[in-house]
Amino acid sequence: MALRLSPCVDASAESASVLALQNVLPFRRPDADGRRGGRIHLSPPELAGGEMEALEETLRSGWLAPAGPVPKAFESAFGHVSGFEHVLATSSGTAALHLGYRVLDVAPGDEVWAPTLTFVATVAPAVQMGARITFLDVASESWTLDPDMLRDALAQAAREGRLPRVVVPVDLYGQCADLDAIVSVCDRWGVPVMSDSAEALGATSRGRRAGQGARLACFSLNGNKIITAGGGGTLVSDDPELIASARHLGMQAKEAAPHYQHETTGYSYGFSSVLAAVGLMQLRALESRVASRRAVFDRYVAGLADLPGISFMPEPSWGQSSRWLSVMLIDSRRFGADREMVRRALDEAGIESRPVWKPLHLQPAFRSAGRIGGGVAAGLFERGLCLPSGSMSPAEQSRVIEVIRRLARG
Ligand SMILES: *Cc1c(COP(=O)(O)O)cnc(C)c1O
Repeated sequence: MALRLSPCVDASAESASVLALQNVLPFRRPDADGRRGGRIHLSPPELAGGEMEALEETLRSGWLAPAGPVPKAFESAFGHVSGFEHVLATSSGTAALHLGYRVLDVAPGDEVWAPTLTFVATVAPAVQMGARITFLDVASESWTLDPDMLRDALAQAAREGRLPRVVVPVDLYGQCADLDAIVSVCDRWGVPVMSDSAEALGATSRGRRAGQGARLACFSLNGNKIITAGGGGTLVSDDPELIASARHLGMQAKEAAPHYQHETTGYSYGFSSVLAAVGLMQLRALESRVASRRAVFDRYVAGLADLPGISFMPEPSWGQSSRWLSVMLIDSRRFGADREMVRRALDEAGIESRPVWKPLHLQPAFRSAGRIGGGVAAGLFERGLCLPSGSMSPAEQSRVIEVIRRLARG
């Protein structure tokens, strides 16, 4: 077959390669049909409807590059859903964070402040850029960055002349950080805020949507998030210049010249058209996903909150969580079993659950990082368990609840 450089898809080559793939890939999850008796997962990806058609249309169009009309349409739809005017779609949420750190000019030796209770990706790119990380504790009312602790720590850092280059609050498990309070204390010292909202698309806080009010925010479209494109992320802002320079850096920092002129080096962080087609369809399901995740949370509360020693992630009066994950706290002395015993019992019953994020200040990778407090986060890690939170039949969720009830004292 002649080698073709045009972006057109050769239909026969396409079906031939799919046939070959079918011999090596298990296309179905073992429990994809016949859900009864199947394993219940923490946050499995779900189809929204229309993905197949969108994929087919995109493949046939020949627009497969990480540029062109499909990612553009995705960015515009994402702007609508997130409430941000400027959106850059990226190959992952971590890539979006990396570009965010770059456009905020984080340099070796700079301080970056983040809550300790988060996924490693919040700070990993900054570490790789040579920044020094300081972890702060979370507030027990929201499990997100404590604004009072931040205010005092910033005042102290200002006195010592070592203000952070950026503060990165995290919207945890679908719950927004108290961004108004955080931005107002950071504004006082001229420190920009980048919100890691990877887990909180669809959440609101004080009448605004996740990340709104921050200089930059990032989201993830990874397979376990509330909506997914099978991978991908976004960096968003109300500042067109920040997004324009992130876009430039994310596409290898090519200057406008036919020979590709480079004034600096960038990254290959573009969002594939193929994934953008899936993401476009998924975005339409966001509202119903939030409603269904909140209903899952409510059913856990109804089925478990009467047990001694059991409580749930609080929702502060100023925010509405997407309840991306339902998180339960176990006081082992009152309940009669600890978090690990519950997790193992669920696992044996074919149910996936996961401890709350291990605070980053307790991770060996961050032995030399700075730390302010951390006791609240450490306690949440010890007692907190994330329960299956995707779409489940009431019967499946009752199975989860039953396993936990059987472990209760008495
Ligand atoms: C998922 C996640 C990310 C990273 O997103 P990817 O798309 O997986 O790179 C970053 N921060 C937090 C808090 C996350 O949960």
